[in-house]
Amino acid sequence: MEIKISHLTKIFPNKKTGEEVRAVDDLNITIPSGKLIGLLGPSGCGKSTTLYMISGLLSPTEGQIFFGEDDVTKLAPEKRGIGLVFQNYALYPHMTVFQNIRFPLENLKRAKEVETETGEKITNYSKMSKAEMEEEVIKVAKLVQIEELLDRKPSQLSGGQQQRVAIARALVKKPRVLLLDEPLSNLDARLRLQTREEIKRIQRETGITTIFVTHDQEEAMSISDEIVVMNFGVSQQMDDPQKVYEDPTNMFVARFLGTPPINLFDGEIKNEKVYIGNEALFTKKLPDQKIKIGVRPEGFILNNLGVFSADIDFVERIGRDVSIIAKHENCLNESFRVIVDADSAIPAKKVKLNLKPNKTFLFDYDTGERIK
Ligand code: ATP
Repeated sequence: MEIKISHLTKIFPNKKTGEEVRAVDDLNITIPSGKLIGLLGPSGCGKSTTLYMISGLLSPTEGQIFFGEDDVTKLAPEKRGIGLVFQNYALYPHMTVFQNIRFPLENLKRAKEVETETGEKITNYSKMSKAEMEEEVIKVAKLVQIEELLDRKPSQLSGGQQQRVAIARALVKKPRVLLLDEPLSNLDARLRLQTREEIKRIQRETGITTIFVTHDQEEAMSISDEIVVMNFGVSQQMDDPQKVYEDPTNMFVARFLGTPPINLFDGEIKNEKVYIGNEALFTKKLPDQKIKIGVRPEGFILNNLGVFSADIDFVERIGRDVSIIAKHENCLNESFRVIVDADSAIPAKKVKLNLKPNKTFLFDYDTGERIK
């Protein structure tokens, strides 16, 4: 089921100050059918608000939401065919796992074609029988691999298991769209890794179009077919994860993705050459202007004749890699990080470097837009 979001806007009035919050601002994205999309951005950028508008829990100030051809903008949440999973699992504590998963089916009326005595075919809406419900619960419990836990209460489960139950409960109604709001935030690091692989597997097996909200770039990169990076309620870039990392549209995206983060420098273009300080790095046929330059930590090459020099602050050795923490007066942070192979010969004080062109990005000084 393709999801199309057109000019979606949510404005929250602030009754105290009278100032409005544009939580989502003219968002236009199309989510391809059967894909898992990561909605990524810093706290407060409008991810949850977007998800809640897609689910129907919040109504938009402006814009439309389509599931396939259906305009669902004004449809009640229960009529949209969505499965929602929250950070805090939201399971009913007094019910067993089995009952929790079965719960959404209890009042569900399913359309069934039946033949009347005269041979006429009519659609009958009826509740599911107990046996039918049980069959569906067991099917979905198998899918998320919690069959052996069906008799337990939520309090007798680990966080990861509870989240699987929440996912099973969201899937049991066979939703058209699965919406996950920071589903892994309450899990410890190991479980988070394991559960995100599980979510990816379940999504692949079911083929349900899924939106996964997270502020964790690594999580989004590892799980998503495509990422939407948001800031201030606006989509900054939508692409496959590798492309977002390798070809960011602006400085915000370049900074938001990557650990350790990209290094930023003040620079300029002068006589068709790119400079940091008074060192010419490479040629660029563009008018003279001030710019900002981003270099990924792995974007440097140690070279005694390198075009860029910096003062070494200290060296960090971690397993395969060596990080050189260096200083430069044009660096926008106190220091910057160069990652090189562990067997590299590292000088004591000053380091000379070349820059890899595919790891070096130029940005407009004022707007932060990428200059190519
Ligand atoms: P987080 O990761 O912290 O949950 P988010 O990206 O999901 O952040 P939203 O929760 O969508 O962000 O919030 C976007 C903006 O809208 C924020 O500035 C937030 O303060 C504001 N906001 C959200 N809900 C309301 C509300 N009910 N009333 C007023 N402002 C709101």
